[in-house]
Amino acid sequence: MAVASLAPASRATGAAADPVSEREVDYYESLPGARIQCHVCPLDCTLEDGQTCFCRTRTNVSGRLRTRAYNNPCALRVEAIEKTPLNHFRPGSKCLTLGVGGCNARCLYCQNWEQSQALPEEVARFELTPQRAVQAALDRDIDTIAFNYTEPVAFLEYALDIAKLAKTRKLNVVCATAGFINPDPLIEFAKYVDAFVVTIKGFNETFYHDVLGIRLAPVLLAVKTIRQRTASWLEIAHLIVPAHNDDLKQTRELCAWVCSEVGPTTPVHLARFVPAYKLDTLPQTPVPVLEEALRAARQTGLKHAYLANVAPHPAANTCCPRCSRPLIERGGFDVLKRSDDHGQCPGCRLTLPGVWD
Ligand code: SF4
Repeated sequence: MAVASLAPASRATGAAADPVSEREVDYYESLPGARIQCHVCPLDCTLEDGQTCFCRTRTNVSGRLRTRAYNNPCALRVEAIEKTPLNHFRPGSKCLTLGVGGCNARCLYCQNWEQSQALPEEVARFELTPQRAVQAALDRDIDTIAFNYTEPVAFLEYALDIAKLAKTRKLNVVCATAGFINPDPLIEFAKYVDAFVVTIKGFNETFYHDVLGIRLAPVLLAVKTIRQRTASWLEIAHLIVPAHNDDLKQTRELCAWVCSEVGPTTPVHLARFVPAYKLDTLPQTPVPVLEEALRAARQTGLKHAYLANVAPHPAANTCCPRCSRPLIERGGFDVLKRSDDHGQCPGCRLTLPGVWD
């Protein structure tokens, strides 16, 4: 996914132009000798004075943890909400989407690695306060702000302040994340987030360790936390990477876990891999492999399994799980036709789960 931006008001590109911001991180503890331990994500980094963390966005400044990822997004675009991907949250609407450099994972196939695997001040960026981000959405008659492209956990303080302000202006807030975050900051953030898409990137710890550099168990905990302890709408994404996580057994296990722990009506997006970064010599996921995974997902009992990054394909449509009638027909990320009535099937009158208007 390219991350070109809307015309920025003031662009900065130098390596030294962004100081560590004044915004303090909310979740950390002080240790003796000006050391601190961050508790935003499950890495729980311990940092010496002056040290910058694994996610590249938080620095220990004289015993206080400050974020470098504040007021300095590297991307700001108007997108279809389907691109998040969200298919059951206000389908066909637009969102103002932003991301900031840095990430707390190390995915070998990251599509936005030039931004995610860098300090926020090392990438092309521009100044945008939370007030101006919200105003930018209002000026464009866009009623949703999205956090995407890079990992919102890495710029959580900025995302949280934007989200809080957005809610005061009656905007929706949505977030695409890898879900590698501790429960307390997640629950606080979710108070201001209407919908999450969490990517469960695989279903074993070896894959998470070798290909992503993080752990699976905290991600599953985050998914359950969103479902059980927040009011946010939830969808799941899963990228199928050839030779790494494309075996049907793993897809079945993942989908069965979603069915039993999160619920069979949770939308699941099975996405096609596109070669990038350190896995740029792999092929794209073949469509028959995706279709087989889709069949397996449905066999586990999932009611709303989709294919993503494959256009056009009928598996992008939202269909009634009872009578199979298509309610929302899509061409890629565009809604081509809607025949639902506030999420209700016009044929058998079943109301599908989601936020429809
Ligand atoms: S959010 Fe960053 S500083 Fe905090 S524990 Fe995770 S990687 Fe470390």
